[in-house]
Amino acid sequence: MINNMNGEKNKLLERFLRYVKIDTQSNESVADKIHPSTEGQMVLLNILKEELLSFGLNYVELDKNGYLLARIPATDSSKTIIGFSAHVDTAEDVKGNGVKPFVINNYDGKDVVLNNGDIVKVSDNPELEKYIGTTLIFSDGTTLLGSDDKAGVSIIMSFVEYLVSHQEIKHGEIEILFSPDEETGYGMDFFDIKKLHSKALYTVDGSSIYTIEDECFNAASFTAEFVGVATHLGYARGRMVNALTMCAHFITLLPQAESPEGTDGRYGYYCAHKISGNIAEARLDILIRDFDYDNLMRRINFLISTSETIRNLYGGEIKTDYKISYKNMHMASEKQPLAMLALMEAGKSLGQDLRTEIIRGGTDGARIAEHGIPCPNIYTGGHNLHSCHEWASLDAMFKSYELITELVKKWAELN
Ligand SMILES: [Zn+2]
Repeated sequence: MINNMNGEKNKLLERFLRYVKIDTQSNESVADKIHPSTEGQMVLLNILKEELLSFGLNYVELDKNGYLLARIPATDSSKTIIGFSAHVDTAEDVKGNGVKPFVINNYDGKDVVLNNGDIVKVSDNPELEKYIGTTLIFSDGTTLLGSDDKAGVSIIMSFVEYLVSHQEIKHGEIEILFSPDEETGYGMDFFDIKKLHSKALYTVDGSSIYTIEDECFNAASFTAEFVGVATHLGYARGRMVNALTMCAHFITLLPQAESPEGTDGRYGYYCAHKISGNIAEARLDILIRDFDYDNLMRRINFLISTSETIRNLYGGEIKTDYKISYKNMHMASEKQPLAMLALMEAGKSLGQDLRTEIIRGGTDGARIAEHGIPCPNIYTGGHNLHSCHEWASLDAMFKSYELITELVKKWAELN
């Protein structure tokens, strides 16, 4: 456990309040061309860089694409190198600049009235009941709060400050990675993975207290281009092939029971995502998700054979293509089980009842896990992410900070 708990907690809160006021909303529409996609992210990254240097770290490198990599030297170089990562950008779903954090000390358990008059109801947020008597942070109701992922950034920064001032703790080198544009889906596209030495990289980008995420979907995007035969509509009989009809029929052959709106838990799905076209040509984009990689490939093959069926029915042409977007990060954890083992052991030592959940989506961690580096995702205590009713628990943030500090000690014990 961390000594001087109140002092450390206050520091964590101060840090969080400072970071959320910086506008770091990313911009998906330019994120494939401009890195990072917005200037504000660089502002925060530069502040983090200066703070890390002020802690006495020698290796703190911020590159032009907005990746900040820092190394905490080992106190025992025989120990394994591990790392922690968080993203500095916030989502675009609602307004994200001009955040005015609203701190509630000693929360009384009632519905929370935000400054703009909005009410965050306990009935919609049953988790609030866990936090009676503690400190919660909301926005003023007109913007998101940005706990996703400035809670993670704050937790990691407090952890670094603690660790460098406690040289008696035995650990290998620790890497810290702050990245941009996670919310745009381009978060890891411009990072040189070869720079990373870590055998495990924990992302601190989760939500509910004590929740660890170690599995995400395998994801692919599938494209079908339908080429019809356009003719004068008055003389079309037996000659015209309508690409739109082919495309519409294709969609009706997707199993509706295996759609996002028809599934949950471990069930994967097909989702007709985008459609465009006219009689001469039409294009359909389908998203495919599955926790099992072989099953993802089976789904792709199903779509290819469905294309054949449509071609045989209507004539015309169909060109298909697919791309794997990301893979289930669990594959890396299976090969390197120590990453989850050390985490669970750290939880046990602290009396934190950690539970694992699956993510029906992807994370930046999934992109790193493809290189064989396990990337479990650790809770931050943020809720209602990407909304104006977002809130964060200082207690949960502090517990996450204690957890990663304990985790470093566990890694040193286990190898
Ligand atoms: Zn996030």
